[in-house]
Amino acid sequence: MNPFSVQHIKRTQDITGLSTEDGAKYIAGGTNLIDLMKLQVETPPQLINLSQWEDEQSIAENDDHFRIGAMVTNTALANYAYHKPSLSLLSQALLSGATVQLRNRATTGGNLLQRTRCYYFYDTTKACNKRQPGSGCTALTSMNRIHAILGTSNDCIATHPSDMAVAMMALDSQVELTSKTGEVRNIPLRDFYCVPGSTPHIENVLKYDEVITAVIIPKQRHGTQYYRKVRDRSSYAFALVSVGAGLVLKNDTIEKLTLAFGGVGTKPWYPASAIKVLTGATFSDDVLDLAIDAELADSKVYGSNNFKPDLLRNTFKSVLNSLYEHQRESGDHEGALYEN
Ligand code: SF4
Repeated sequence: MNPFSVQHIKRTQDITGLSTEDGAKYIAGGTNLIDLMKLQVETPPQLINLSQWEDEQSIAENDDHFRIGAMVTNTALANYAYHKPSLSLLSQALLSGATVQLRNRATTGGNLLQRTRCYYFYDTTKACNKRQPGSGCTALTSMNRIHAILGTSNDCIATHPSDMAVAMMALDSQVELTSKTGEVRNIPLRDFYCVPGSTPHIENVLKYDEVITAVIIPKQRHGTQYYRKVRDRSSYAFALVSVGAGLVLKNDTIEKLTLAFGGVGTKPWYPASAIKVLTGATFSDDVLDLAIDAELADSKVYGSNNFKPDLLRNTFKSVLNSLYEHQRESGDHEGALYEN
């Protein structure tokens, strides 16, 4: 590792007015950044340590939303969400991610900002536009089994690895950002991430002087919820495909659908086209196919990931059919389907 200095933050006011060196990085749980530093992918001259940031370590329930502080660990959030039927998707997604040890360290803000697990991003001997803009993309013509099929460009096809972000996106979350001048702005998580285009090193709309202070999840009817993650092994693996969904039926009509995909997009994927087809439609196998056809219309495969469109279709239909069956049998319109 290169030498670096460390500055510790305890209160939000320590961030406002903070003077940082060029290339300084915030570090929370460190579950991704430390690996990147060991591999020389990241070489920050200064770390701003947030692990003792007391102001943002709690979850607040308000009349119409939950506010999750940026430093709430993934374990604490999973446990909290487990007991809230309207957040069950979030609990399921978090518990499907990483390991207990990692979830104990990883934070809400850090999880949203974790970097891709593209093999070539971590290998400094390989060309990678995200790590070194303009150097090329090794993944386009090499092994790309874990790579994206939606939102890709000729410069990058890497997926965003977070399960938590997929659930939060489905639940219409907003990200609360605070600048060093103390200005606060909330933006929908759907608008937080960028597709790579010709600038894959720019991954989100966070400004240089902003930090994530919280995630706001509105209280609304999200229906019976289910997060299914398909991966190469049953733990400690990133999603090849994941589908997070919440369904509210009125008789056989889809009154409300909450939906997001992981493992297939260059960002946690909000499937606007599929949701448009399904909302207000009568539930059927055919309409599910029409919906996923609409979403896959702009997809592109790259060789080793040619299986992903079919895997997404099958996972999507399986999740929606499970939710449909559950509601038909139990009439439960707010709750969870957990994997056996
Ligand atoms: Fe780099 Fe993106 Fe290409 Fe991976 S897919 S090698 S992260 S540019």
